[in-house]
Amino acid sequence: MSTPTSTDPTPAATVTGGHLIAGSVRRPAEGADTFRALHPRTGATGGTAFAEATADEVAQAAQAAAAAFPVLRAWPGSRRGELLRRIADELEAGAAGLLEAADTETALGVPRLTGELARACGQLRAFAALVEDGSYVDAVLDAADPSSTPPRPDLRRMLVPVGPVAVFGASNFPFAFSVPGGDTAAALAAGCPVLVKAHPAHPATSELAGVAILAAVRAVGAPDGTFSLLQGRTPAVGSALVLAPEVQAVGFTGSTEVGRALFDLAGTRPQPIPVYAEMGSVNPVFITPGALRERGEALASGFAASMTMSAGQFCTSPGLVLVPDDEQGSAFVDQLREHLREVPEAPMLTEGIRAGLHRRLEKAGGLPGVEVVLGGGDAATGGTGTAPTLLHVDGEVFRTTPELLDEHFGPAAVVVSLPPAEYAGTAQHLMGNLTATVHGTADEAAGLQELQSVLVQKAGRVIWNGFPTGVAVTAAQHHGGPYPATTFPAHTSVGTAAVLRFLRAVAFQDAPPALLPAELQDDNPLGLLRRVDGVSTRDAIGGTA
Ligand code: NAP
Repeated sequence: MSTPTSTDPTPAATVTGGHLIAGSVRRPAEGADTFRALHPRTGATGGTAFAEATADEVAQAAQAAAAAFPVLRAWPGSRRGELLRRIADELEAGAAGLLEAADTETALGVPRLTGELARACGQLRAFAALVEDGSYVDAVLDAADPSSTPPRPDLRRMLVPVGPVAVFGASNFPFAFSVPGGDTAAALAAGCPVLVKAHPAHPATSELAGVAILAAVRAVGAPDGTFSLLQGRTPAVGSALVLAPEVQAVGFTGSTEVGRALFDLAGTRPQPIPVYAEMGSVNPVFITPGALRERGEALASGFAASMTMSAGQFCTSPGLVLVPDDEQGSAFVDQLREHLREVPEAPMLTEGIRAGLHRRLEKAGGLPGVEVVLGGGDAATGGTGTAPTLLHVDGEVFRTTPELLDEHFGPAAVVVSLPPAEYAGTAQHLMGNLTATVHGTADEAAGLQELQSVLVQKAGRVIWNGFPTGVAVTAAQHHGGPYPATTFPAHTSVGTAAVLRFLRAVAFQDAPPALLPAELQDDNPLGLLRRVDGVSTRDAIGGTA
């Protein structure tokens, strides 16, 4: 089977406004309930009319996924790797159309979207490499010990795929956290068919990405139900997916309210399933006196850039910064305000996101002890445009005002001025976060141990002398954190460890050798890195592989 390069011609994919179910495009039926995307730069809706998926269509897609699962889970890692690499190739071949659609529907700009598409393709290839190596199944073999009391059986444990996975595309990353994003890549890598609920903010981008995935599914001979895409702009489609009996896990990126609602809904099923939701985060940044002395101006400009990148619509945007309540801290606030003044109004992804931000800011800005340093108004001059907002409080107000812990998704942040000796105690008031950052100097490190130990309890990633936006995709990445940042803090939604969300463990006890999966056989035919009687090795049992 030949794999196209990124220069191979691809048939021009046309946007139909339908769904992709069991290997085919379902165009909207006559009289179907439809919607059109909002174009953030103009504030007008436009483009193709998209059909709202019906309960029947969700059920058909879920049944097709269940039928595909036995085939996919039996595929060796090499074939799943081929599927993932082919998806990346198809996305690259269709890049021009994808970028044009995404830029129209999100207003995130072609340069940013180009980087994001490359990231999505890189993620797919990273998961391909993971499953081609195969050691991610975490095979553990403990030999029988008849002489122990009680006698110990032969036990061999490995990870296996859970079954069909429902993925909710995020609004703010139309590629890397949407249809062809990390959740889809991780689930397919695991051997799980995928049903995506497209985000209604970018339906054409979603359909084009779905068509690329479908082309790859066909090219590598995967079963039709391997991938489905369902469009919708009401909670009915997402709810039906979570309740579909065939679905065994959910990947979600979005608001805390919806993530929690889906988590609770999954708990009402006769068979509850995990909803891996990545939700809100204020991503606190602590700046020490030493760091301000050394590079205060650079920190103010760096913070402004990180906070306003893509109109602050990153789950890792820093929304809270703690500075000393002294002259240097005041200078930082002044410099930050001046940098933010220079940031032009930028369109937000949807009118709902813009309105939600301003509703929260209006509430926070009116609370006792809160000073509005910049912005705070709601005067869009075009489309969903929004300018930066900066709020300022002292430590006591921060600690006694729980509303300031809410995420302000967008170009907005709260500055807290307080004595550095109160940093660690104040950090105790934080809720769960994806990230926490400290800017300090080498000389101060020893004195920051207590702050770090609090932050380790509060965040999934602790960053030194950097900014939280920009999440590297590697095996060591952890993009997670305690609730409400996520519903499962042990797991990450970025990096190859994200595959673990869609796997479960099974142990074989005293299994006849002929019935053991290849991963657990004595001679280690796949050459996996395994833990055999407590030792990590690629060797066969009783000899070299
Ligand atoms: P959202 O409101 O959480 O919606 C995400 C997805 O869930 C959409 O596909 C939405 O589709 C669906 N949905 C909404 N309510 C539902 C329900 N009750 N049952 C089932 N499905 C439901 O996210 P958003 O639209 O992207 O933005 C809203 C807010 O989410 C933002 O202001 C921000 O605070 C937060 N957000 C966070 C992140 C993050 O990275 N953590 C990313 C994006 C947004 P329908 O509209 O079709 O129902």
